[in-house]
Amino acid sequence: MRNQIAAIPVIDHHAHALMHLPPQLTPARFAAFFSEGGDDVIRREHVQNNLFFRRTLHDLARLLGCVATPEAVLAARADVPLDEYARRLVRDANVEAFLLDYHFQSDDNYSVQEMTGLTGAAVYRVLRLETVLEELLAVHDNLDALLDVFARRIQEAAQEGVVALKSIIAYRTGLRIGDPDRKQAEAHCLALHEQATRQGGIRLTDKLFLDFCLRRALEWAGDLQLPVQFHTGFGDTDLDIREVNPLHMRPLLEDDRYRKTQFVLLHASYPYVRELGYLTSVYGHVYADVSLAIPFAVSDFTAIWRQILALAPFSKILYASDGFSIPEHYWTGAHWARESLAHVLEELIDLGALDQKEAVEAARAILCENARRLYRLP
Ligand SMILES: [Zn+2]
Repeated sequence: MRNQIAAIPVIDHHAHALMHLPPQLTPARFAAFFSEGGDDVIRREHVQNNLFFRRTLHDLARLLGCVATPEAVLAARADVPLDEYARRLVRDANVEAFLLDYHFQSDDNYSVQEMTGLTGAAVYRVLRLETVLEELLAVHDNLDALLDVFARRIQEAAQEGVVALKSIIAYRTGLRIGDPDRKQAEAHCLALHEQATRQGGIRLTDKLFLDFCLRRALEWAGDLQLPVQFHTGFGDTDLDIREVNPLHMRPLLEDDRYRKTQFVLLHASYPYVRELGYLTSVYGHVYADVSLAIPFAVSDFTAIWRQILALAPFSKILYASDGFSIPEHYWTGAHWARESLAHVLEELIDLGALDQKEAVEAARAILCENARRLYRLP
């Protein structure tokens, strides 16, 4: 069964593009890609001691045929041109397609076209809602006009091949999303436009305005059949971990206005994994993703699968890496997810919950088929 699961391709339905980087990275620069932010002391002294970094080094050393030190691995890595290296990792990880969220260090990243060439996989785009709102606030002081253009942008994106929307409201103001009235939103729109004009741009952290606009986008997403990915759970220190528990989303999930909208809750909501499993099991329009938690939470992978699978049907669970900047995340994510999932599925066979054939079917659903259906990919 392990061999059968190892042969299943993945659709990495939430990731970010590779970054333009010099071929030879310093150990400190490389290690920085294995931390979700953190303070200077973490970056300087401790990142190289986390399991994500260490296990990656060991796996890379085996792949590249060198010893598992940062210096040796980085030297061996620099010997291979990026396109060849990325393609090798993506092929080895058997990634069939990526869905890329493009508003993360955008200027430094390879374009969709370049990513297709670099990885040899199919590449689809995800549209980040907050970034669109920030652009629109620079131009519009009137809420009606802003919402018109916001709706049009989303519609055009869908026509141009964007397959999902993404919200990082968890980062900005948390998942306790309110239902503000229009009059207040109009006043905030005007004030935010003035602020954007004064500062030459804006980083949107106005809770009332974000909550109001996100709710509109959720309705349109339902009409357009565009699933909406939500950051939930851990991330870098920008977010307040107390405010990113997906249970805060209950009012949205209960709201009839968004019943047609597919909610994809990202990152296993880690550490709120059981909460995510519960929501996925009771709401038909909620999907559970495991990215970021896999590959970051190395010693917890089997626990993550067990806790989500405890309640959530395997037809509503999705694999992704949330890889960013370097190709290693796509590679470790796919390998480690398959391996840990196979381990847990074997336990479930022993338990008598699944037979061999059903276990492979569950793995295929989680690794690629659920994403194919949800995002309507070929
Ligand atoms: Zn992400």
